[in-house]
Amino acid sequence: NPFEQFKLNRQLLDAIADAGYTEPTPIQEQAIPLAMAGHDVLGIAQTGTGKTAAFVLPLLMKVKYAQGADPRALILAPTRELVMQIAKAAEELSRYTDLRIVALYGGVGPRAQTEALRQGVDILVSTPQRFLDLYAKEEIVLKHIKTMVLDEADKMLDMGFMPQIRRILEVIPTKRQNLLFSATFQEKVEKFSYEFLEFPMRVEV
Ligand code: AMP
Repeated sequence: NPFEQFKLNRQLLDAIADAGYTEPTPIQEQAIPLAMAGHDVLGIAQTGTGKTAAFVLPLLMKVKYAQGADPRALILAPTRELVMQIAKAAEELSRYTDLRIVALYGGVGPRAQTEALRQGVDILVSTPQRFLDLYAKEEIVLKHIKTMVLDEADKMLDMGFMPQIRRILEVIPTKRQNLLFSATFQEKVEKFSYEFLEFPMRVEV
């Protein structure tokens, strides 16, 4: 299995086989080793390239197993649909682990989401606003977060989420690994990447 080149553990390799992935896509080939080596990564890739697994697999490998009650990784995405899609992919790829993935998004009441948070979470996938809402209600403890992913950063900036993202960056621990994925590398994204990423390795497909 060509995925074995990445030093992923057996649980993840089995889940990858179940998903029917026989070989890594170009973005996965480039991004997975860099992310697993601990680098900040700037990934320029469109939907359909396998970008989700390119950041989810290194994240699952890093977080590894359930621990404590509070999240250790945060994935932000612009829309509820994308959050649900990422959470589903993460759940499938972590099916042989005990990792707890919680998806947060608006358009529904907060009850089920706060209940899930109270049961314990390892990886949070959220839209920026719902994250801030639940953080303001003290439902989210941030001090253990060591990895942050921004997916579809161009769309997030286009949708006007910059203030929310800035606010999140003010409250999240500063010592962390950052991964930024964007379909395009327009000026807005480039400028923001200088704020968000430290010595990033750039990959593009
Ligand atoms: P994404 O670009 O992350 O939205 O992924 C697009 C689709 O490709 C999803 O349905 C994934 O399940 C699928 N996919 C991701 N990686 C691979 C792979 N290595 N081989 C085959 N399909 C994949």
